[in-house]
Amino acid sequence: MKKLLFPLLLFSLRLSAQNAQQIHQKAILIDTHNDVLSNELITKFDLGKRQTEGDFDLVRAKEGGLDAQIFSIWCGENYGKGTAFAFANREIDSLYALIKRNPDKITLVHNSAELKKAVAQKKLAALIGVEGGHMIEDRMDYIDSLAKRGMNYLTLTWNNSTSWATSARDEVTKKDSLPHLGLTDYGKQIVKHLNQLGVMVDVSHVGERTFYDVLATTSKPVIASHSCAWSIDPSRRNLKDDQLKALAKNGGVVCLNFYSGFVDSTYSPKVAVFLHQHKAELDSLTKIYNDGDLANIRLNVMYKTESDKIRPPLSLLIHHIDYIVKLIGVDYVGIGSDFDGAESYPLGLDSVTDYPKITEELLKLNYSEKDIDKILGGNVMRVLKANTGK
Ligand SMILES: [Zn+2]
Repeated sequence: MKKLLFPLLLFSLRLSAQNAQQIHQKAILIDTHNDVLSNELITKFDLGKRQTEGDFDLVRAKEGGLDAQIFSIWCGENYGKGTAFAFANREIDSLYALIKRNPDKITLVHNSAELKKAVAQKKLAALIGVEGGHMIEDRMDYIDSLAKRGMNYLTLTWNNSTSWATSARDEVTKKDSLPHLGLTDYGKQIVKHLNQLGVMVDVSHVGERTFYDVLATTSKPVIASHSCAWSIDPSRRNLKDDQLKALAKNGGVVCLNFYSGFVDSTYSPKVAVFLHQHKAELDSLTKIYNDGDLANIRLNVMYKTESDKIRPPLSLLIHHIDYIVKLIGVDYVGIGSDFDGAESYPLGLDSVTDYPKITEELLKLNYSEKDIDKILGGNVMRVLKANTGK
């Protein structure tokens, strides 16, 4: 009897993995946040071909069953008036160039109807998310211009506040010295203007006060393009239970960020120890790359065994999804990986090829195919359609 049980178990495991692949490939998978365009190191590579560095290219995206990607357009807070908008446009140019070089693999889409058409043509649907209100340089006409070039969402702030909206970082660290808190009247006009243009309002990165001001102002469902559950990991970038409930009431969607620091509350102290142990190398790498985050990514590759040890298990990311589903229902959760934007992800998630593992884990928790479809992309599709009208 025992002799029979083992092959039977192997057979059923293989069957469930096959089942997961089938469900995964059939579903429309939309990832609402990827930083590959803003990663100057990665843009040196031809993303039309398989790469050994970085988290994303068009070959691996296909293998991972990715159907639509909202590419993040981002520049740091050192870019300001006179430079930030121009930089955003340069990044959009680089997306256009990627599409032009790979017309059989990727196409720009503006709404859910075009997204579905791209999926039918077996091309990756590319969308644009502008991550940081500082890139509009306080000008309404710059919003129009970015929308014309394909902007599908505007993240009202990055870590830095604008003159019209306060960020999560600043609301926590500079609360008493901020010239204003939340959205100003001009900020409210911006939200209404985005609603009119059919551009989704992204509340990832904004402070709690701005978050609630947005919900009181917007006439359309909003998106949190890359955030997790605060109750599991109390990072200021994650959403508290009341925020999640308010988001559901608005009909919006929160898309889960894979970054280890937003998934696992024990990651930050562990990574601090790791970086301290390799301080000399980190300093010289930071000089070479002129960027601390890129230096950290490089260091993780050099000391893979050590850096793997501090990565959270994949089950913890799945726990965020399951927690939010139990709190507000299955209609408000999506995927916003932050691939190419962070130095560490849960074990097993190494690049865009690994999305099917999420489907596998959800099946293990007895999620139905219908619910998995919603989480992988159906919910984001609904919010996109509600904003663009088609
Ligand atoms: Zn971000």
